[in-house]
Amino acid sequence: MAEHLGTTCVQGGYRPGDAEPRQVPIYQSTTWKYDTSEHMGRLFDLDESGYFYTRLQNPTNDAVAAKICELEGGTAAMLTSSGQAANFFALFNIVGAGDHVVASSAIYGGTYNLIAHTMGRMGIESTFVSPDCTDEELEAAFRPNTKAVFGETVANPALDVLDIERFASAAHAHGVPLIVDNTFPTPVLCRPFKWGADIVTHSTTKYMDGHGAAVGGAIVDSGNFDWEAHADKFPGLTTPDETYHGVVYTQKFGQGAAYITKATSQLMRDLGCIQSPQNAFLLNLGLESLHVRMPQHVKNGQAMAEFLHDHPKVRFVKYPGLPDDPWHELAQKYLPNGCCGVVSFGFTGGRAAAEQFMKSLHVAQIATHVADARTCVLHPANATHRQMTDEELAAAGIAPDMVRLSCGIEDTDDLIADVAQALDALQ
Ligand code: PLP
Repeated sequence: MAEHLGTTCVQGGYRPGDAEPRQVPIYQSTTWKYDTSEHMGRLFDLDESGYFYTRLQNPTNDAVAAKICELEGGTAAMLTSSGQAANFFALFNIVGAGDHVVASSAIYGGTYNLIAHTMGRMGIESTFVSPDCTDEELEAAFRPNTKAVFGETVANPALDVLDIERFASAAHAHGVPLIVDNTFPTPVLCRPFKWGADIVTHSTTKYMDGHGAAVGGAIVDSGNFDWEAHADKFPGLTTPDETYHGVVYTQKFGQGAAYITKATSQLMRDLGCIQSPQNAFLLNLGLESLHVRMPQHVKNGQAMAEFLHDHPKVRFVKYPGLPDDPWHELAQKYLPNGCCGVVSFGFTGGRAAAEQFMKSLHVAQIATHVADARTCVLHPANATHRQMTDEELAAAGIAPDMVRLSCGIEDTDDLIADVAQALDALQ
């Protein structure tokens, strides 16, 4: 019997046997006990699968990662301590000093910082392209040392929609994978592998957890990228890893598992960034209702965008669900059931009006957070993106007066009434 996504949200990843716990157990243990050191040696050599230390693997985390893997339609997945760690690991697993990354300029400010500055200091170069660049501009961004292309399905907070098929075919023409951060739509609204993405990442901190309870991240491999066919570009996967007794990941684990096994056994071993089993348990509770919550986020986001669209004190509204939004056509293709609950907009009264508006809200509350059951609001130029120059802000699609309103799952009328009174209060 084919399983639908809602059933996977509730029951995926962990299917208990007879007389086993109905809920995913929390393995609150750093370590595992073995009768012989030979047995443990086989685990260290990756000759046998099993658990020995939670920094590398933990059964609670694996069950939740397996659910996310099923939801995205991948072949292997892992949890990380945060979305930042997920994006860093996803890239650093296949790029190193002397390599180059092509990235969409419309991405979360923290990810921009990671790629442009922190990874830059590691000797990894990057070129950013607008998600609406021409095919020629996209082509011109590639270099012989390009190893990956990166973008967000729906950009935070610009709400640009990535043309996944176009970016995937450009990446594949250059023999490199497309990595897509699918945090905002979640697999309930978009499954990037269907459109050619090779690896998907998530800040599970957002809709997946959904209750503002646990910071976390996830990486999922589609298993579709043929690392062996481009072996010269990805020696880390296709030649012996001397730190693991010469294992060749693609040979030993196959195309479907090589990438995640390397990220687990090498990057987790050396850099840490594991998600705590407690947080994985909380994440799983969130995932159980993801398919029920996302339609309410979409309903509230769409209604809010339509209300703001016609308001005289609102200078612009960004929401791909609006018919006159520049990303509407792509949204209809990639996100036919809605894009998310986040709406970005600016004020005829400029930056000062943005600041005053936020002070008058009651239901929506000022928080760095986004994509939560409770409606939250943020002024990015003052908070998450304050490290950016005006040019970088413009490239990321962020105006100084832009406010990001993340519609939760409260009653639609209450949210609109709250925003209406805050707009009325503007001088
Ligand atoms: N990716 C996107 C699209 C995000 O919005 C965020 C955070 O807002 C991140 C990654 C980073 O995730 P985390 O805060 O879990 O490290």
